[in-house]
Amino acid sequence: MAKKQFKTESKRILDMMINSVYTNKEIFLRELISNASDAIDKLCYRSLTDDSVNVSRDDCRITVAADKDARTLTVSDNGIGMTKDELENNLGVIAGSGSFKFKNELEDGDDRANIIGQFGVGFYSAFMTASRVTVVSKAYGSEEAYKWVSSGVDGYTVTACEKEGFGTDVILEIKPDGDDEDYSMFLDDARLKALVKKYSDYIRWPILIGGETVNSMVPIWQRSKGEAPDEDCIKFYKDTFREIKDPAGIIRINAEGTVSFRALLFIPGSIPFDYYTASYEPGLRLYSNGVMIMDKCADLLPEHFRFVKGVVDSPDLSLNISREMLQHDRQLRIIGTNIERRIKNELSRIMESERDKYNEFFESFGLQLKYGVIADYGSKKDMLKDLLLFHSDRKGCLISLAEYVADMKEDQKYIYFACGDTAKIASGLPQTETVRDAGYDILCMTESIDEFVTGILGEYGEKPFKSVNDDDLGIEGGTKKEDTEKLESDYADLLEFVKESLGGKVAAVKISKNLKSHPVCLSTQGMITLEMEKYFSSLPSAAGENIRAERVLELNPDHRLFKVLDDAYINDRGKAKELSQLLCGQAELIAGYLPDDPAEFALLISRYIS
Ligand code: ADP
Ligand code: MG
Repeated sequence: MAKKQFKTESKRILDMMINSVYTNKEIFLRELISNASDAIDKLCYRSLTDDSVNVSRDDCRITVAADKDARTLTVSDNGIGMTKDELENNLGVIAGSGSFKFKNELEDGDDRANIIGQFGVGFYSAFMTASRVTVVSKAYGSEEAYKWVSSGVDGYTVTACEKEGFGTDVILEIKPDGDDEDYSMFLDDARLKALVKKYSDYIRWPILIGGETVNSMVPIWQRSKGEAPDEDCIKFYKDTFREIKDPAGIIRINAEGTVSFRALLFIPGSIPFDYYTASYEPGLRLYSNGVMIMDKCADLLPEHFRFVKGVVDSPDLSLNISREMLQHDRQLRIIGTNIERRIKNELSRIMESERDKYNEFFESFGLQLKYGVIADYGSKKDMLKDLLLFHSDRKGCLISLAEYVADMKEDQKYIYFACGDTAKIASGLPQTETVRDAGYDILCMTESIDEFVTGILGEYGEKPFKSVNDDDLGIEGGTKKEDTEKLESDYADLLEFVKESLGGKVAAVKISKNLKSHPVCLSTQGMITLEMEKYFSSLPSAAGENIRAERVLELNPDHRLFKVLDDAYINDRGKAKELSQLLCGQAELIAGYLPDDPAEFALLISRYIS
């Protein structure tokens, strides 16, 4: 009979499994047991929603049986089973498996083991220890059984066969022992029991070896802290959610009241590669009385905490409602509110007691929290504002708003901030000098969303936010308002000339009140700031493209170059025009923008140097 071919991706992974880039071979057993457990979960879930399915939970079990003489190891379950099509689709096409959302990184040799760790190894891990794998399965309610057989990359066959009850047997023909490879240990009952204890103790269904139930069956989230120390929870987290790094925080909830539930939640220690894309699926795993009813229940997690992973188990959830109805379920809402509060508390705790860890967390998920602040017109801002961090100009590290305010000088009225693509650009803006010289700290806002965040918050601790770009910084000592007005009327012709020389690039040219050592700076007038413009133009729709900030070129009347410009204006208009362009380009560079024509700008500089 002709062999069917695996899909390309599947082949690559199979190849890796057979050549065992992953040294930890024993985890194949965990994977097969976890599939068996999932299959039983699926059947139990069906029995709750479909009257034609009758299973007694007491009969559900997983069996692990080794035959030393035949060198086979069989993992059996009486779960939902697979039809002929399912055997083909689920085992022949790796893309169909939840475990393998593979990225191209697979090509880069050295990271392979990590990637496998992250995504889990799934069914194909069987090939790490088996030279041939046979899967015999009968779907629940079907009369026919089928057999899937494969020895690896050269393909697989599916044929009809006999099988007594519904469910699945996975039969591994264990590889012969090699020089430094001992595969026979996977045929030894004592060894197998130890492995089940180690990796699969919390599986809810009995795992039988030689007629004996090996696992304790109490799910980890149903145990107290004493019975399930952090260490065990971390192992559970890594196994279940395919994570490599330890979580940044663990949250255990045992709630009793209108709705009783237990939850074991994790704040991830690293960010999934696809986190800020549409392909990332948030959600908590939802159980009712130990039966999984949903893998990723997004309704339980508020959007701003969508990075949290974990499980929720509640006996109070009505199971025979559809998944769509779960959305409107009152119990679910109560659980969700409770969870939200607990996550917030855990994040505050990490921020206070483990700042380095929090900084790392914030690097990954801070943007998510900021989105949370501006979402829904700021409905969550009060809950989230204390979780934010910004780069401090003075301290050179991330600080919270509370820390900024606590450090404010007595006469300081505002929380000052400067925007730029990096903290360095923001700190280097000419406008910051006045603020810094007054002895005030400045928050460097490096993400385009930041200005919306300050906009929505408005103030913190009754101190309003103020951009260093603001005309009126509220600081004594800058050029006086009356003085600038007088200068602006005295030099009206010059200012108009500079504006025209720039060919519509700026909406206005003004005398600055806030410049010290720099000759020029770029600011804006009107509602839209440069940061907002960047934000809008970064949006995927074309709608944002026309939202432009009105740029203003500010000149420092006390700078020597101002005099040079004025002289040129009087004596040599051609030179004055070039100087205007030089000054504007300089202001753009400082603000982190390239001049429109960088080459032309560079030539202009060269001309002046020589
Ligand atoms: P995952 O479990 O993450 O989906 P696997 O590679 O472990 O990925 O398994 C692939 C798929 O094969 C499963 O999603 C499931 O549909 C099917 N499968 C594997 N083992 C069994 C089993 N014992 N009973 C029923 N279906 C199974
Ligand atoms: Mg699996």
